[in-house]
Amino acid sequence: MLSTGSALNSLLIHTMLAEIIAVGSELLTPFRQDTNSLFVTEQLNSLGVSVVFKTIVGDRKPQLAQAVALALGRADIVCVMGGLGPTEDDLTREAVAEALGVRVRRNGDLLAALYKRFAERRISMPANNSKQADLIDGAEILPNANGTAPGQWIDTVVGEHRKLLLLLPGPPFELKAMFTAECLPRLREALPPRHIARRVLKIAMLPESEVDARLAPIYTRFNDVETTILAHAGEIQLHLQCAKAILEVAQTRVNELASRIEEEMEDAIFSSHGESLEEIVLYYLEIRGATVAVAESCTGGLLAQRLTSIGGSSRSFVGGAVVYTDALKVEFADVPEDMLEEKGAVSREVAAALAHGIRRRVQSTIGIGITGIAGPTGGTEEKPVGLVYIALDDGKEINVCERNFRGDRDRVRWFASQQALDMIRRKFM
Ligand code: ATP
Ligand code: MG
Repeated sequence: MLSTGSALNSLLIHTMLAEIIAVGSELLTPFRQDTNSLFVTEQLNSLGVSVVFKTIVGDRKPQLAQAVALALGRADIVCVMGGLGPTEDDLTREAVAEALGVRVRRNGDLLAALYKRFAERRISMPANNSKQADLIDGAEILPNANGTAPGQWIDTVVGEHRKLLLLLPGPPFELKAMFTAECLPRLREALPPRHIARRVLKIAMLPESEVDARLAPIYTRFNDVETTILAHAGEIQLHLQCAKAILEVAQTRVNELASRIEEEMEDAIFSSHGESLEEIVLYYLEIRGATVAVAESCTGGLLAQRLTSIGGSSRSFVGGAVVYTDALKVEFADVPEDMLEEKGAVSREVAAALAHGIRRRVQSTIGIGITGIAGPTGGTEEKPVGLVYIALDDGKEINVCERNFRGDRDRVRWFASQQALDMIRRKFM
């Protein structure tokens, strides 16, 4: 049963779990998105609180009361956002009171403040607005610096568990200001001290399923470290996060898990402190005193663009050529004409010749050649869309990688540049 009451101090030894409820029928249409919960999630995470549910409820009292009751049964902190306005469809106060089994009462101080606010603007207060002075029994007022609807902070006990229930206004600029000024300090006081250690490991050119299959047995053993796998094109990020009372303890746990992951994935991990692949490649080139030049066909300069997006790249990136036509492959990268005729522009041999040709031309340590079929047209049965050859010539040998990338033109081109960067990295790491 629900009962409001004074704070139990017994709480919160486990990771605190939060649920966010966004209220508003407009948020259930394609026209308006719930962005408040992203902000609130970020804030809660920074306090070591995990958000475990997000719910969007229309402006309907029974459903809202139901959602709040459900949330109180499964989360320690419940943030209800929106529906604190003066209109008929602003039902949050009533619905939350219903879920808690308590009443709302019109608060004299709040009402006076509302009248004052309107008077200052020399307008008379519409009757509806007085509803914004309704306070749920046991609630503390959260002043709204940017609007008329005050928030409410309820510190209560449900069953034997302490629950924090926050009512926040829907307009994002009101919510953000109130959360920062009023909720953060209260939450910090209510929650045990938490310090959060984080690390991001990145893996290139492996499928997410493989990474997860290899890592799940490892990270599941660290149940105090939250591991999130985010897959991007040609890159998998592992976000490790641990919250502890003492920062060093959290950091040690994150580092322990990171080391286990590094042991398992070995050289597939290109970055263990969040650096981008471009940054890592340029870092390796620089410490080895090596330079790179590129001859790009299907990527149209994407590899050069990515390398040069990093400041200081001129120390290692020489330049190169976009050799889209056969004629330019001959002219700028010395690809033999008969090779193009015999093997076709998209071939292992031409990729190698591009890498070799550009390296010799500009006298760089390594040369990269990329040729492929980015699509959507131009594919054949023998050479389908997505077929790309990426070659690396280091002056001693030429490695050519043949890949069949799936996806649209952008994706094939991106993957080709990603593969090329990963080849350079592996050469110099
Ligand atoms: P008021 O009615 O006094 O403006 P309120 O607390 O009742 O405040 P709502 O009416 O629910 O808030 O929303 C007000 C505005 O804020 C609307 O434009 C709404 O689309 C926007 N809003 C509400 N909830 C969210 C949300 N979760 N994310 C982003 N915008 C939101
Ligand atoms: Mg409203």
